[in-house]
Amino acid sequence: MNRDGLSRTRTRAYAAGAVALLAFATACGDNGGGGSAAPAASTAGTAAATQSPAGGTPGAAATTPGAAPAQGDAAAWAKWNLKPLAPAPAPPADKPVKLERTGTVPVFSDVKTTDKVVFITIDDGAEKDPKFVEMLTELKVPISMFLTKDIVKNDYGYFKPLQALGNHIQNHTVTHPVMSKLSADKQKSEICEDQAALTQQYGTAPLLFRPPFGDGANTPMLNTSVQQCGPRAIVLWRESMQIHDMQYQAGDKKLKPGDIILAHFRGPKELKGATMTQMFADLLARIQEQGFSVARLEDYIQAPPS
Ligand SMILES: [Zn+2]
Repeated sequence: MNRDGLSRTRTRAYAAGAVALLAFATACGDNGGGGSAAPAASTAGTAAATQSPAGGTPGAAATTPGAAPAQGDAAAWAKWNLKPLAPAPAPPADKPVKLERTGTVPVFSDVKTTDKVVFITIDDGAEKDPKFVEMLTELKVPISMFLTKDIVKNDYGYFKPLQALGNHIQNHTVTHPVMSKLSADKQKSEICEDQAALTQQYGTAPLLFRPPFGDGANTPMLNTSVQQCGPRAIVLWRESMQIHDMQYQAGDKKLKPGDIILAHFRGPKELKGATMTQMFADLLARIQEQGFSVARLEDYIQAPPS
């Protein structure tokens, strides 16, 4: 039974949220042991965009339109000591999130859907474990990667086989700063330079942006900076994967349909000895035991008309 859909509460982070976000600044980039919550934001699909000029070329979907993400076979799941996730439904034809080509970009931490799906996002790009590429190749679980230029530039190639599986690469700044402490010009260079590097390396321009730590997400200044660099939405999260379990913003500590989950490319040094694949296996187990499947975030988002 899924009563969660009936009682979804949303904390809207406006001016007060911007202050609160600073207190949560360890949620993205910490060592996995923190007890902080992630910032809240309004549900996607409800934000209205106003019109003003801005550039932006969305990344094209690498998967067949309308097809559900493929899933690894039973043997693959057994190899990783996992029970298979429920297969994801076909992506909605009418996307719950519709992005505009210009104007204010929406900020969201979940997607409005009744599908019993969640979305996995993996940030920064520090750990480049070949075993994780093997795992995703076999399990075919969709992820979205928010990459930080200075963290990935020593090995852009690591992420290419993950991208080749249909996973999208998204913008997460050049140096992973606290954005609200920067001038508008510096914000812009952090986002625009990451956008340029990722576009050059991976062949498509990121459509989505995530500020490090979720900081500044709801400030007009950051929204404007994002608009000037091309991404057409700011994406936060509802749950944050640590080492073996998730931190939930919801008091009932349960996944809800459409939740976006934050994880990181991390290795034993950050995970108290656990590996990236062990962390990811635990994440999948937590999702599986709650009866959810994993869908591709970009399959629920309509890119702006070109
Ligand atoms: Zn980060």
